[in-house]
Amino acid sequence: MGITVLGSYNVDLMSRSPHLPAPGETVLGGPFQLGPGGKGCNQATAAARLGCAVRFMTKVGNDSFRELAEKTFRSENFPIEYLLISDKGQTGCALIVVDQEGENSIVVAPGANMDYLQEDMDAIEASVAGSSLLLLQLEISMEANKKAIEVAQAYDIPVLLNPAPYRDFDKSLLKHVTYLTPNETEAESMTGINLRIESDFLEAAKVLYEMGASHVMITLGKKGCYLYSGGQAGELLPGFQVKAVDTAGAGDCFNGAFAAAILAGKSVSEAALQGNAAAALSVTKVGTAPSMPNSTELQAFLE
Ligand code: ADP
Repeated sequence: MGITVLGSYNVDLMSRSPHLPAPGETVLGGPFQLGPGGKGCNQATAAARLGCAVRFMTKVGNDSFRELAEKTFRSENFPIEYLLISDKGQTGCALIVVDQEGENSIVVAPGANMDYLQEDMDAIEASVAGSSLLLLQLEISMEANKKAIEVAQAYDIPVLLNPAPYRDFDKSLLKHVTYLTPNETEAESMTGINLRIESDFLEAAKVLYEMGASHVMITLGKKGCYLYSGGQAGELLPGFQVKAVDTAGAGDCFNGAFAAAILAGKSVSEAALQGNAAAALSVTKVGTAPSMPNSTELQAFLE
């Protein structure tokens, strides 16, 4: 059996620009790039490229971007029956402008990602019930996420929640979360603790653990990640040193690679190490989903 990744699909529309436009300003920029994105799609891609059987369940509009989603499903071997089509919502879009210093400005129009109906809840149930792990983020309808967690709980299926992008949600859901993977900013928003030194990581991880998650991994950018699974102490798993060219999607790669390792029977700390290694490789390439490494690249990197 494989994993279900229930999450967003967005088309990334990205243009370089000499500077970020001021209100009312039009800037001549370029080059322009269009590609698959969205946290769900990025994480599903990372897991699938590392050999994991992935059901990626997402919802797009019945518009011209639907074809791009279908192309991604074919190229990453995601079973097409889990691509849901909305009659009224548009395919999610991220409008991204990046300036010469790499600073960006992004508007996400989530469209169909927020448009889950009763009939979709049945499809979620069918997919999650036949999986060995459920992977979720916070970029789609919270009703859909709640339903997936309920089904996972009923069938005793572990849940990995990446609480990103952070927004307020019903924290009682954390009781049903097996693996929680906030980045530093998300961990700060969830706990109110300012993360500066290792004792702060432990304090924040303990708070999240007490909210109900069985294993907490706070990802720390190039510093790696902090793992806490109860008890007195946690473990800082250092990141891999690489020459980073684009860190967008690093967290998504970490989550997909972590999930693939758990499914392959690895321990939580071995899986977090795989997450660190795959995510380090992903930041050496430009792009989000396109920068996810495959098993051969990961093995070569770890040798
Ligand atoms: P997000 O992308 O969600 O903000 P992080 O910045 O914490 O998440 O990155 C996720 C993971 O990616 C980290 O735990 C680490 O393993 C890896 N990573 C991120 N940036 C770098 C980097 N510059 N060098 C090496 N690994 C990195």
